[in-house]
Amino acid sequence: MNNKNVKKVIYFITSECIQCGICVDVCPIDDAIEEGENQYIITNACINCGKCKAACPIEAIEGK
Ligand code: SF4
Ligand code: SF4
Repeated sequence: MNNKNVKKVIYFITSECIQCGICVDVCPIDDAIEEGENQYIITNACINCGKCKAACPIEAIEGK
């Protein structure tokens, strides 16, 4: 298997997420955070900058 071009996203959003949208507001990448059914989801577009984790008011974002 060739994983050379597969970028690993370090951050993920847990089920604690209340979908407040703050992480989307601070994220510099347009499509890095998507609205899921019950929580937001970090996609492969994420550049692992960590801004969302720092901004989440309830620490629902984990990683790094
Ligand atoms: S900032 Fe935190 S609680 Fe708000 S939508 Fe993002 S992950 Fe969910
Ligand atoms: S780590 Fe940065 S790029 Fe990735 S979802 Fe969070 S704010 Fe967006």
